[in-house]
Amino acid sequence: MRRRLCGWGRYPTVEAFEIEGEDLEAITRDVVLSRGLGRSYGDASLPPPGPLRVAATHRADRILSFDPTTAVLRAQAGLSLERLNRFFLERGYFSPVTPGTEQVTLGGMVAADVHGKNHHVAGTIGAHVRALRLRLPDGTIHRIDPASSKELFDATIGGMGLTGHILEVELCLEKIPSPWIVESSQLHGDLECLIDGLRQASGQWPFTVAWADLMARAGGNGRGILLQGRWADAAQARAEAPRRAPHVTIPCAAPRLMLSNPTIACHNALRMAAARRAPQTRLTSPQRFFYPLDAIRRWNLLYGRRGMTQYQCVLPWDAGMASYRRLVDIARRHGPGPFLCVIKDCGAAGDGRLSFPMPGISFAMDFPVAGGITQALVDDLNDHVAAAGGRIYLAKDAFTRREHFQAMEPRLGAWRELRNRVDPRRHVRSALSERLLD
Ligand SMILES: Cc1cc2nc3c(=O)[nH]c(=O)nc-3n(C[C@H](O)[C@H](O)[C@H](O)COP(=O)(O)OP(=O)(O)OC[C@H]3O[C@@H](n4cnc5c(N)ncnc54)[C@H](O)[C@@H]3O)c2cc1C
Repeated sequence: MRRRLCGWGRYPTVEAFEIEGEDLEAITRDVVLSRGLGRSYGDASLPPPGPLRVAATHRADRILSFDPTTAVLRAQAGLSLERLNRFFLERGYFSPVTPGTEQVTLGGMVAADVHGKNHHVAGTIGAHVRALRLRLPDGTIHRIDPASSKELFDATIGGMGLTGHILEVELCLEKIPSPWIVESSQLHGDLECLIDGLRQASGQWPFTVAWADLMARAGGNGRGILLQGRWADAAQARAEAPRRAPHVTIPCAAPRLMLSNPTIACHNALRMAAARRAPQTRLTSPQRFFYPLDAIRRWNLLYGRRGMTQYQCVLPWDAGMASYRRLVDIARRHGPGPFLCVIKDCGAAGDGRLSFPMPGISFAMDFPVAGGITQALVDDLNDHVAAAGGRIYLAKDAFTRREHFQAMEPRLGAWRELRNRVDPRRHVRSALSERLLD
């Protein structure tokens, strides 16, 4: 069907023919790209302007096998994380790595090599993938794993769908002691304390994340809440399984004024006050802990008709606190936003050839799209990140320029060389690949 497609940020948009179906082998024939649930923010899941054909995989969502002795799940690439969680949580298993939404597919998770709040201990999802069934750009189908096809496997993990169409994923799930999470929160008065707290917490907790208030004034700028968590053991957990929380749905794009620096400053102040009153340690559900934003369906519409972008980068440890502070100062300099800032601790890099995380601190900041202001903002942020030896996350990006990406990615040449071998004529391509990678 001919549609106007976009990612989660609703910028940019592209006209394309979307082919849906339960038979992935059939729908990935003669398409330029596969896409999952469109939760990458920018143009990663969009074809170049065409209109061209893309495969929408979300209806190909069957669980094909599960071996309780090895905990290895084999499933079609369109299986959503929500469905996986609904089925496996009560049976004592969970995805070893989860992003901040469960509205993603296995194929999308592998193609972006997603990371979660436990990156410092568990790495990315790619570290837990045993094998893939992949339709190569030449149309042939192969089972690939790190033992038999290491180069192609590593280029596909985090390869943004550009080495072929993932048809099936074999993923080793994590056995969990209960379906409950013990969550502990701490308030910190500025960015420097918050980052110090995050580093310390990562030595003790498997799940850590910080939310920073970048609208707060002067000395308190970057104050925030540090969340830490672990699976509750059987003695700590409640007898009954956690109930799935209800959600609300945003009906249409909000007027521009709804999200502005003053409304967000007010929201942040209320959030800090509520956190001050809340108990510091509590039992909570995985849904609330991992996916708080999923409680508001279509929350991206709150950013209005022009959409939003998320800028996510990682700055290495040796860049130091002054460099982290400089990044948020640049983010605040340009106009509206950043309205949300999430900070995570990244551990060792995985084997994915274009995978995002590397040892350091990751910042994810949300901004409304505001034409030239947004381009200038991303350019300035990228100047800083490239100079500091950091890099950006392709799954979030819509504005980075090719020169910046090349400056940040010494690995690009080797990845491109592999792509030249498997797809010299660029049968598989995306708006993102034409903007940054070709
Ligand atoms: C609220 C929110 C929170 C998030 N939190 C995190 C987080 O904590 N950590 C993190 O790492 N990411 C996070 N993300 C990003 C998200 O996890 C990734 O963008 C993920 O790739 C989206 O999966 P999807 O199924 O929607 O894929 P899409 O967005 O549809 O596609 C993403 C990429 O995967 C490719 N792809 C999809 N399916 C296939 C397939 N079958 N074969 C080959 N290629 C395929 C597409 O071509 C595209 O390049 C978040 C996103 C949102 C909206």
